[in-house]
Amino acid sequence: MDLATSLTYIKGVGPARAAMLEAKGLSTVEDLLAYVPFRYEDRSNVKAVNELAPGEMATVIAEVRSASLSGFKRRNLGLFEASFTDRSRGILVGKWFHGGYLANVFAPGQKVALYGKVEFDSYAGQITMLHPEYEILTDDDDAVEAALHLGRVVPVYEAVAKISTRVLRAMVHRILESLPPVEDQLPEEVRLRLKLPDRWTAIKETHFPPQETDMRLLNAFRSQAQFRLIFEEFFWLECGVALKRSKARTMPGISFELTDGVREKVKAMLPFKPTGAQKRVLGEIAQDMKAPRPMNRLLQGDVGSGKTIVAAEAAVIAIENGYQVAVLAPTEILAAQHYFYFKQLLARLDYVVVQLTGSFTSREKGQLKKLIAGGLAHVAIGTHALLEKDVEFAKLGLAIVDEQHRFGVMQRFELLQKGVHPDVLVMTATPIPRTLALTLYGDLDVSVIDEMPPGRKPIVTKHVTADYAERIYSFLKTQIDEGRQAYVVYPVIEESETSAMKAAEKMHEHLSQEVFPGIAVGLMHGRLASDEKESTMERFKKGEIKILVSTTVIEVGVDVPNATVMVIEQAERFGLAQLHQLRGRVGRGAAQSYCILITERMSDTAKERIRTLVDTNDGFLIAEMDLKLRGPGEFFGTKQSGLPSLRVANILRDKEILEAARREALDFVSHPPSEEELRRAVAYIRDHWQRRYGLVTVG
Ligand code: ADP
Ligand code: MG
Repeated sequence: MDLATSLTYIKGVGPARAAMLEAKGLSTVEDLLAYVPFRYEDRSNVKAVNELAPGEMATVIAEVRSASLSGFKRRNLGLFEASFTDRSRGILVGKWFHGGYLANVFAPGQKVALYGKVEFDSYAGQITMLHPEYEILTDDDDAVEAALHLGRVVPVYEAVAKISTRVLRAMVHRILESLPPVEDQLPEEVRLRLKLPDRWTAIKETHFPPQETDMRLLNAFRSQAQFRLIFEEFFWLECGVALKRSKARTMPGISFELTDGVREKVKAMLPFKPTGAQKRVLGEIAQDMKAPRPMNRLLQGDVGSGKTIVAAEAAVIAIENGYQVAVLAPTEILAAQHYFYFKQLLARLDYVVVQLTGSFTSREKGQLKKLIAGGLAHVAIGTHALLEKDVEFAKLGLAIVDEQHRFGVMQRFELLQKGVHPDVLVMTATPIPRTLALTLYGDLDVSVIDEMPPGRKPIVTKHVTADYAERIYSFLKTQIDEGRQAYVVYPVIEESETSAMKAAEKMHEHLSQEVFPGIAVGLMHGRLASDEKESTMERFKKGEIKILVSTTVIEVGVDVPNATVMVIEQAERFGLAQLHQLRGRVGRGAAQSYCILITERMSDTAKERIRTLVDTNDGFLIAEMDLKLRGPGEFFGTKQSGLPSLRVANILRDKEILEAARREALDFVSHPPSEEELRRAVAYIRDHWQRRYGLVTVG
């Protein structure tokens, strides 16, 4: 047996269990060893029932005497009570609220292990445990098996489908007994200096900690063994990122010239004075563009901080040097917005800007592709359609990718293949917490716009319930009377736009016919034809439409400075980042802006989201909170995110280990102890980690 052995060869793993494990991504011995316990219990304190003392944590091996959902007064709580006894003839009562499901588990006579805090119920005169952990014991458990689950510090695994923690524990134990010690791949110098245990010890002690291990450390994932495994996972990830980054730096790129003529053109394009932050960031970008290697830069900044104008400046530099620019957006609406924005800005310089999206007919697309391939279009703006194989650029020099987190790392590479190593500028309006940025974009240099354009007032955010509709309408009315405009937005739920679209249509009818008969109310949703969308947006921009009722298609990128009110219906259904994005559609001019969050019934996390949003306008705080509430997987939505799938480590919990591992990895890659050792590391990463981390060009 070795790490690559398939789990189907392990005793106790039949086809049914193998399938369940496989579905969780566990197919080899190595996979299962990386499936570490999420919790540990100290079951060394095994007591007879009549020895139990209130206040202590104890383990009891006992038999079920009787079990029932208790008395009618409490039935609505579904309080499940079972009494247990053992050879000492003492009686222990276990209680579980909402425990109806346990009726099938605790049949009289069943042998179980219970672990929990002992309490004395003076009212009933009983020794009790409230919600004890339990494990069903079987009669054929031999002594060895029993010793695995009791009388020691016991690992608790998250069940895999129907495979219980107990079965997993036995499986892991069996593997550790027959597996020869695994090799340590971590550079020895690092391991010794940081006093990390070797890999084999770390694996064994993470699954079965020695008796003297501190329980608090264990349950905080900070035992030496756990630390070593977490560190290792981050170390290889960061080595991969560092290698990729250093490789990118050696690729030949375009050296754009920054002559006075080019500077003049940039100035001529600018409709206003850039902020200090915008100037600094442009400086960083210009340096990259000048350098003879491809730029790989992330431009980060809160919604409305003015990233687009900086991107347009970069575009001017590229075009003046005789190159083309591609602008990639995640949605058609955003592509259209960029198209209008860039066209308007670049018209002063007589550049040709074209838009290519999926909804064009193939004839239209064909014509546009010709313009792009012939070099007649200076700027091509579009969605994924721009990445299609048959879109060829005559001379692509700069690729601007907006809202990066919706594109995967892979897609960024597809774009790179369209030019001879064009410069890449990634813009993101979702501020990414630092830890995640290091991991996700570790191969990118980062520029941050940390200053808002002058004259902006913080948006006032209010939360109300649906019965406040009348007051909100009259508020809208006063704003419109003052010459302002407003959005009313409905959430898109679960990919399907239909219900949101219907809600938006209904509200559009209600508002336009009953509430605001004399006022132009527009309607926007994803099912409209693209010319309809365009003309609606255009009319809203010109101020002909006063209120725009919309689904979340407007989430990103819409820029109408005169709009001062954002009403978000069913706000409890939106994610935090999405709400912040939507709110960012207002507050883009000098007038005071408002965001009104209307909710119906809210869960606790929804309440937390709404509270966060009412309390702060700071996108970074909001992103941190969002990450906490949702976890890193969901934060970026899809697999497309390019977020590495970590197994042992957790980006949120293990921030400081990530940072340590990153420092060590950078150091190792830039000053390897020997060429030989670096080669070994590269080979190891390529074999073991590359696919999981999407590190396409390592080594
Ligand atoms: P982002 O893309 O970062 O969300 P935008 O580039 O769309 O922000 O800019 C938001 C709004 O602010 C736009 O209306 C833009 O024209 C305006 N703006 C950007 N920079 C400045 C500036 N330096 N001075 C005044 N207005 C600006
Ligand atoms: Mg923008």
